[in-house]
Parts: sequence; structure tokens; C-alpha cells
Amino acid sequence: MRCSGEACGHEERAMKTVYWPEEGDEAEEWPMCEGCYGPVADEVLIVPGPVACFGTCKGCSDWFSLRDLSEVTPGGRRSAPSGICPSCSAA
Ligand SMILES: [Zn+2]
Ligand SMILES: [Zn+2]
Repeated sequence: MRCSGEACGHEERAMKTVYWPEEGDEAEEWPMCEGCYGPVADEVLIVPGPVACFGTCKGCSDWFSLRDLSEVTPGGRRSAPSGICPSCSAA
């Protein structure tokens, strides 16, 4: 996952996923590293649960842990993150 912070680009396998509640139901969700989360911790909420841990493969549409997916891109509230699973990336 890559931090969504401007001019940050920090990459980690697991990262907080946050959203701004003031944006309501249309709020987008963003991956954020610890360094970028700190200054806005009072403004954002962390997305709970498996949303940040599992995603779908763009190739075979199966579910995988984000640890197993490469090229993960964040999804919206209704769509989980998606990426490429090991077997599809090897194909
Ligand atoms: Zn960051
Ligand atoms: Zn796949």
C-alpha cells in the first residue's frame, strides 16, 4: 500500500485506511502512514475491519489478503481494494 499523503509516497504492506467523516456517505478512503496520520488524527476516522486487510484480484476475482496482492489500489466504501494475486502475476 502506498500512503495517500501528498509528497509522501511511503509504502508499507499494511497501513491505516482513513476517511474524513465530514464528507459523509461519499467520503473516499485513503491509505495513510503513521507520519501522515498523526497531524490529522483529530479529523479522520480509521476504517475498521477486514476492508483494509482483504482485497480482490483483478485477474481471477478471488479474495486475498492484501499481503498476497501486488499493485493494490484502494477501493471505495462499496468496493474492496483490488490487486494482482501471486498466481495471476506469475501467469
Ligand atoms: Zn505518509
Ligand atoms: Zn488472481
